[in-house]
Amino acid sequence: MIVVLLGPPGAGKGTQSGTMVKKYGLCPISTGDIFRSNLNAGTALGLEARSYMSEGLLVPDELVVRLVIDRLSQPDAQNGVLLDGFPRTVFQAEELAGFLAAHGKSVTCCLLLDIPEKELMVRLTGRRVCRGCSSVWHLTFSPPPTDSVCPYCGGEIHQRDDDGEAAASNRLRVYQAQTYPVIAWYEERGLLKKIPASGSPQEVEKTINKALE
Ligand code: AMP
Repeated sequence: MIVVLLGPPGAGKGTQSGTMVKKYGLCPISTGDIFRSNLNAGTALGLEARSYMSEGLLVPDELVVRLVIDRLSQPDAQNGVLLDGFPRTVFQAEELAGFLAAHGKSVTCCLLLDIPEKELMVRLTGRRVCRGCSSVWHLTFSPPPTDSVCPYCGGEIHQRDDDGEAAASNRLRVYQAQTYPVIAWYEERGLLKKIPASGSPQEVEKTINKALE
């Protein structure tokens, strides 16, 4: 099963991805997480991506596609994959389809986490994440521990650079301009399943499970 998890920043892709990976035994590939860990490790890839990420812009297609194709070619990605945050442009969707077709594979379905835009800024700017294990909190909806120490791994809980007001609103604009057409691309191919994503993570998870049955 090759599942694409699509949705605007703040829709809860990371949270749902964590549960789906466990339930369905999928290999998680999150391009955002790959860039962030490269950034933290100071690699050339991280340095190249940094300026785009901090402004909430997309990293150039060629770079992202190369990275994902490389990741998809590794042994742990041969028995089911969950793509989180990729593809984000029609070019990326086409490159992915082409690569998979060349290997006798195809995307099983694309789950769109569907959420009204007005909820997203509140979700993004209040979000706090663990630097160590990427666990997520929200200042209002599920406040993090007051000492900002992650109860799961002891890492520091912080606000992502790109969750600040300016970068967050840029990311939403970029989503509308560049990722919105990807929804239609999967819809035209009969692969899109819309998942209402305003509810609790548990409610969203139930709808995802039904969609994947
Ligand atoms: P995310 O954690 O998925 O919101 O990704 C964080 C940032 O990484 C994005 O704002 C982009 O700068 C970059 N990024 C992640 N995935 C992609 C992608 N598929 N195409 C281009 N840039 C990406």
